Amino acid sequence: MDFTLTDEQIRIVETLDELGKKEFAPKAARWDKNHEYPWENIHLLRELGFLGMTIPEELGGQGRPLIDAILAIETAAKYCGVTARAIVETNMGALGCVMAYGTDAQRKIVAHRVLEEGDKPAIGMTEPEAGTALNELQATAEKRGEEYVINGTKHWITGGGISVTNLIFLRFIENGEDRGIGGIMVDKGTPGFTFGRVEDAMGLRGIPETELIFKDCVVPAENVVVMGAGTEGFKKLMNGYNGQRVGASAVALGLAQGAHDLAVEHMKKRKQFGRPISDFQGLQWLMAEGEIKLHAARLLIYRAACNARNLPNNVRLPSMAEASMAKAFTGHSALEVVSKSLQMFGASGYAESLPLARMFRDVRMFQIGGGTTEAQLNMIARSVFRKKFDYRK
Ligand SMILES: Cc1cc2nc3c(=O)[nH]c(=O)nc-3n(C[C@H](O)[C@H](O)[C@H](O)COP(=O)(O)OP(=O)(O)OC[C@H]3O[C@@H](n4cnc5c(N)ncnc54)[C@H](O)[C@@H]3O)c2cc1C
Repeated sequence: MDFTLTDEQIRIVETLDELGKKEFAPKAARWDKNHEYPWENIHLLRELGFLGMTIPEELGGQGRPLIDAILAIETAAKYCGVTARAIVETNMGALGCVMAYGTDAQRKIVAHRVLEEGDKPAIGMTEPEAGTALNELQATAEKRGEEYVINGTKHWITGGGISVTNLIFLRFIENGEDRGIGGIMVDKGTPGFTFGRVEDAMGLRGIPETELIFKDCVVPAENVVVMGAGTEGFKKLMNGYNGQRVGASAVALGLAQGAHDLAVEHMKKRKQFGRPISDFQGLQWLMAEGEIKLHAARLLIYRAACNARNLPNNVRLPSMAEASMAKAFTGHSALEVVSKSLQMFGASGYAESLPLARMFRDVRMFQIGGGTTEAQLNMIARSVFRKKFDYRK
């Protein structure tokens, strides 16, 4: 196994590292404080080809492997979590589902919006009464001739109100019968589709977490990305979502690496008892443990990305078990690493004048959004026991 990055991958990392230092880090507090979407960074990323890197060449993209996008996300996140999340959502999430299962027309439209306009597709799954139990979602798409009539409410939808493309998970109803869960693209501005409460979230405050409200919202049947077909539609959407989990893990990893790097530099300079605090073995060990966690998380994330397998349309996304392992481990470890890094700064780490406090608030999300740590553990456990059963056959 060779872990050496290619020249092209080194270029991706170096470019984003430079951009991160010059452009992302100095402005990161502004997006957080003002709850402002980082459009300036998004335009820069788009111009430099970091949005929609995985979009196939025939749709105008670069057709890059998932691991390249992961490297870009991880590096950007060292400097600004919300900016890195925009790279996730223009390469994975709703985008992955549409690229895998969408019609040629849908794929073209979504690719154009990402590559030319910097749109960040949103994915609307969670409802007030259906979080982890997503299969109990209640929002409906009722077939009426060649149209679907959508009713229901989603909440905590990242980018709701900003995103033009919205992939909404819905219960398909035909002739009064429940046909199962599928996904439909609903564009911002469609009559009957409005935005409600925007959450006052703890972290990652530069991207809104919004309530989406559908009231007799009519969309043409050609907007259907995945049909509600028993449990099949839901399974497909969940497979398409595995890319997002690995992308989210890369944001958490980048945030943790960024905090860890800041702590190392600070520890070499800060003196107490007449010597740098990096001389204290107790603190060295904390940092050594952090270093191990960062490396272990990176291995899980890179492995999941490199093992990405073919979905329809040659879209390569990770398996559920590998994506869940990466997310469960990184979510937990990244929070610990950021917390320990903040500790190295003493009181100044607790102030918003340094980035540590923001990083701590930001990184907490990755044990919740995209499926909680407990939900990931449930999925891993399912795979563990299924494997045992298969082995005995
Ligand atoms: C910042 C942020 C961004 C988000 N972005 C999006 C988005 O873009 N699109 C979207 O659709 N959703 C989004 N979400 C919603 C997110 O996916 C849900 O919050 C998550 O799936 C959990 O659902 P819930 O909040 O309803 O918690 P609940 O499902 O009510 O869970 C409450 C607690 O119970 C635990 N639990 C529940 N069931 C089980 C079980 N069977 N076994 C063990 N433990 C269990 C959970 O792990 C959790 O700790 C976002 C959330 C956040 C915080």
